[in-house]
Amino acid sequence: MTTTKVRVLRQVEVSVPQAFAEAVPPDLFTRLRLTAIPALFIRPQQGTSSFRWMGFCAGEEFTESGEITLDARCVETAEWKPRADLIQGLYLHEAAHRLMPGHRHNAAFGAVVLVLYLRAGVTNHIEMWQRSTLYDFRDEAEYLPQAFAWAWRVAHELAGTGDTAEQCAKIISERYGAWRARLADEPAQRQAKRDAEFVERKALENRLKSMRENRWLWAMAGFIVGAVGVLLALH
Ligand SMILES: [Zn+2]
Repeated sequence: MTTTKVRVLRQVEVSVPQAFAEAVPPDLFTRLRLTAIPALFIRPQQGTSSFRWMGFCAGEEFTESGEITLDARCVETAEWKPRADLIQGLYLHEAAHRLMPGHRHNAAFGAVVLVLYLRAGVTNHIEMWQRSTLYDFRDEAEYLPQAFAWAWRVAHELAGTGDTAEQCAKIISERYGAWRARLADEPAQRQAKRDAEFVERKALENRLKSMRENRWLWAMAGFIVGAVGVLLALH
C-alpha cells in the first residue's frame, strides 16, 4: 500500500452553528415552500483572489450534495456579531442561484430572490424584501428599471401562490424569455409609433394650412360680394 505525508481533507457533516440555526429555522422552509439546501461554511482564503465573496453557489456538478457556500465568519462571533437577517439573506440569495442555474444576476434571478424574501417575511425586525439589492439585477444594467418592475410584479404574483419555490423558479424562467423578447421589440415598436405620430401631425398641419388658405379665399369672396353690394347700392 502506497503512503504519503500529505493530509487530505473532505467535507463532513457537522452540527449546525447556533447563529445559522436561529437565522434559518425549520418553519422558514414551510413559508418558503422550499426543500432545504445544504450549506457549507468556509473561510475565504486571503491573497488567492481579488474576488471578495460572502457566499457563492458553485455549479451542482462541482458540489458534494448541491450545497451552497457561505463565509464562516457570518455565523461565528470571533470577527463579526452574527445578524439573523444578514445570514438569512445570504442563504436565500445563494439558494436562488441553486434554483436558477445559468441565470446569474438577471431579472429572472432577481424575481426568484424576491419570491423567497417576500415569503420569508420579517426577520430581525426587517422585512426581508428590503434586502433585495440592485446587485441581484446587475446583469440588466441597461434595462434596470424595467427589469426590477417586471421582477417585482412577477414575484408578488407568485409569492402568494401555493407553488413550491422550485415551481416558481421554473415559471419565472419561462416567462423571462418572453419578457426579454418583448423588450428587444420595444425600440422597433417605439419607432413605429413615432413614425405614425409624424404622419398624423403632417396630415393635421396640411389640413390647417388648407383651412387657412380657404379662409383667405372666403374673405376675398366676402369682400368682393360686399364691394359689389356697395356699388349696386350707390348705383
Ligand atoms: Zn449572487
